[in-house]
Amino acid sequence: MSDLPVVSAVLHIEMYVDCPGCQNYVNLLDERDTDGVALNDDSILLRQMFPAKGDNSDFKCDEVTCTECKTTFNVRELEW
Ligand SMILES: [Zn+2]
Repeated sequence: MSDLPVVSAVLHIEMYVDCPGCQNYVNLLDERDTDGVALNDDSILLRQMFPAKGDNSDFKCDEVTCTECKTTFNVRELEW
């Protein structure tokens, strides 16, 4: 056994889109940005980060509403 201190790791993920209505950055993983809607239920967005095909061209998130301007839009593709 090592006597070195042990800490836990924290992974901090943000997934941004430009709102087509007001150009604000919208973090798809933050309900405060998406009009109170949790878009990552059951990790549906994060699971798409590692698709079977090896790219993220089939990433999608439907009906995102911007908290600022209430514009609703769909997201296609994910860039790393
Ligand atoms: Zn907006």
